[in-house]
Amino acid sequence: MVDGRVVIAGGGIGGLALAMGLAQRGVASIVLEKAAHLGEIGAGIQLGPNAFHAFDRLGVGAAARDLAIYVEDLRLMDAMTADEICRIPLGEGFRAHFGNPYAVVHRGELHGIFLRACEAHDLVDLRTGAAVTGYEQGAKTCAALLDSGERVEGAALIGADGLWSRVRAQMLGDVPPRVSGHSSYRSVIPVEAMPKDLRWNAACLWAGPKCHLVHYPLSDWTAFNLVVTYHNDAPAPVAGQPVAHEEVRKGFTHIHPRAQEIIEIGRDWKLWVLCDRNPVRRWCEGRVALLGDAAHPMMQYMAQGACMALEDAVVLSDCLAENPVPEALQAYESKRYQRTARVQLQSRAMGDHVYHPEGAHADLRDSLMQAKSTADWYAALGWLYGARV
Ligand SMILES: Cc1cc2nc3c(=O)[nH]c(=O)nc-3n(C[C@H](O)[C@H](O)[C@H](O)COP(=O)(O)OP(=O)(O)OC[C@H]3O[C@@H](n4cnc5c(N)ncnc54)[C@H](O)[C@@H]3O)c2cc1C
Repeated sequence: MVDGRVVIAGGGIGGLALAMGLAQRGVASIVLEKAAHLGEIGAGIQLGPNAFHAFDRLGVGAAARDLAIYVEDLRLMDAMTADEICRIPLGEGFRAHFGNPYAVVHRGELHGIFLRACEAHDLVDLRTGAAVTGYEQGAKTCAALLDSGERVEGAALIGADGLWSRVRAQMLGDVPPRVSGHSSYRSVIPVEAMPKDLRWNAACLWAGPKCHLVHYPLSDWTAFNLVVTYHNDAPAPVAGQPVAHEEVRKGFTHIHPRAQEIIEIGRDWKLWVLCDRNPVRRWCEGRVALLGDAAHPMMQYMAQGACMALEDAVVLSDCLAENPVPEALQAYESKRYQRTARVQLQSRAMGDHVYHPEGAHADLRDSLMQAKSTADWYAALGWLYGARV
């Protein structure tokens, strides 16, 4: 077992999930979060069955199941014709096949589950207003360096500090994240604002040329999550910037009026220009390792970034409970890097071949997807949803 407490940089879903995983296995940790308050943005998140498997291993399975909405299918619509292309059923057959459900949740509520569990556990120490700028390490300990000049020591340091990770910058010194040029606008609307004939119990994707729309219900059916994305070659990263309705409309003038209706009902839109990275083999250096978006930021097109962070937390807590450092961190890296690389690369490919194609490319997508039976879909998704970390 790791010979001392674990220092975790970042109190997002990944950092808190790790703290809970470690606490479950009798390992103490301190979470250093740079923000003044621990929280998440007010938007939705989709969770595959692999996330529920991780919730159980992290000790929050019952709480996560309580707040989830169990959508009946993944539905793909043609944004140009408003016709349905195909759907993947997520009901009893899906749950029996993968041993867990597919669900949608509010991010703040999900983060809140981990936060309450961490607050209630003696082995987790939470600190806010603690921005990590880098680290130092020796043979037996390491320390997170804070912008205040303070050093926070432990037996290991885990960089769960997201896309712009300072821990990663020092460890790998690699180029900045790749700016995809895809602009995503998010809005959460009250359920009454959603047209009645679109209040589907589905994680629904409308795919169109260089654009797409996603919607699903949230928070016990009191709200709908809207995410609409426009591939406009935006040159610089943006995260959570409020934008005018007019700007959102611009990217969707070419799609079917029924799909445009979804843009019209959005309110208080916020913009993200999405970034990812190429996969890397190395996520650790001595007593320091990376987790979640710090290690493997990805496009959202497989809805797996947070799910992968949860899996990381399970594997890393197992490794730290079973092995000394640095062997534990090397074991974690070798168990995780290829699986997450596959999701990073397939997420990009999904954007190109499922979300944004046009013309013959879109026709081919429709034919290939419509040719699949439910059993074919479940077989194709087995490596992702059926894995037990
Ligand atoms: C539009 C969109 C839709 C998505 N949809 C899904 C989905 O449906 N399903 C899914 O599984 N994933 C989805 N994702 C991906 C998911 O949001 C991320 O992969 C996940 O939030 C990563 O969690 P994390 O804890 O690794 O990083 P983050 O959530 O980025 O958390 C990092 C934390 O570290 C803190 N921090 C940063 N720097 C420092 C520092 N220097 N010192 C201390 N603290 C620091 C931050 O304040 C933050 O609290 C989506 C992403 C986007 C953009």
